[in-house]
Amino acid sequence: MNQKIKDSPIQNSIIGILGGGQLGRMLAIAASRLGYKSHIFDPNINSPASQVSTFSTQASYDNVQALASFAKSVDIVTYEFENIPTDALNIIEKHASIFPSKEALFTSQDRLVEKQFLTSLGLKTAPFQNIENINDLNNALDKIGIPAILKTRRLGYDGKGQVKINDTNNLDKILTQFHNVPCILEGVVNFNMEISIIGARDQFGAVSCYDPGENYHENGILKTTLVPAKINQKTSTDAVLLTGKILNELDYIGVIGVELFVTDNGLLINEIAPRVHNSGHWTQNGCLIDQFEQHIRAIVGLKLGDGKRHSNIEMINILGDDFKKLDKFVKDGKSALHLYGKEDIKVGRKMGHINKIYEF
Ligand code: AMP
Repeated sequence: MNQKIKDSPIQNSIIGILGGGQLGRMLAIAASRLGYKSHIFDPNINSPASQVSTFSTQASYDNVQALASFAKSVDIVTYEFENIPTDALNIIEKHASIFPSKEALFTSQDRLVEKQFLTSLGLKTAPFQNIENINDLNNALDKIGIPAILKTRRLGYDGKGQVKINDTNNLDKILTQFHNVPCILEGVVNFNMEISIIGARDQFGAVSCYDPGENYHENGILKTTLVPAKINQKTSTDAVLLTGKILNELDYIGVIGVELFVTDNGLLINEIAPRVHNSGHWTQNGCLIDQFEQHIRAIVGLKLGDGKRHSNIEMINILGDDFKKLDKFVKDGKSALHLYGKEDIKVGRKMGHINKIYEF
């Protein structure tokens, strides 16, 4: 391992970022502070990340030539979303190292593979069953019981690609609505709170975790993260330990987001995201080294920085029309505003976020 992109200091090296959304934008800003240039690959023109990066390629993920020239032009490649087609990664890998690894990405791209991986480590998840047809679904409902949640194995995000099953009517119709793609059925978890923890692992094997945050969603989309989460020390320690286990097992390099349910019987893992995470945006104003810098440090071969929390933070996502009421968010002068440079306002679209600071 330990594939530094060049001997330190690594000024002027170029970091390739797959995906030009807000996460790519904030990664590029962090990279720039450390003296790197970024090259964004995204199918859209004027993406949030390309606005703040030295280089950008606007092309689709099946454009073999564009992927190859992008990969040749950079020293290292990372990504801001997990649904990158395997073929695209195979092309890139011929020319540049990818961090976090393809294996980490594959583990989180498919909910079944992800849950099998987690349970193989002795970690707890909701009960789950693989669903490929109506027979599987009937059998799984017998085992798991009703209500249950059916989720597509791939490409789900922000609560999309999932439906709660409250009875056995219209099961065929539900599978058809999901175009009969492979799914998993999950038992409904009776949780007290949803939390997440952002962890990082560098090329020397050091692991560091930020304090867990307490998450609240609106229509399946993250709205607010509160830090510190109102959990006891044992729960917090459990979250750190399970994150370390996942990171070590995957020989992971970079930042990971782990979403957890807090239950009376301990923590259950909902999902892992092999990237910087919306629920880690509070670190920008709550820690010396935020999740974006931590990720860049890890992938270029620097040691992790100090992620200790120095403030209590409420992170609030600015979704859709909230964007028109920015005044309300910034008037008190105790809110740090982070906007993403998106022009079109759409319902539920993440336009920016604020970090409100509270006394420690
Ligand atoms: P996901 O896309 O898997 O992150 O799910 C989005 C949201 O749906 C989660 O943040 C939870 O609020 C809820 N959810 C997902 N899976 C379950 C489950 N098995 N039991 C209860 N709630 C769930």
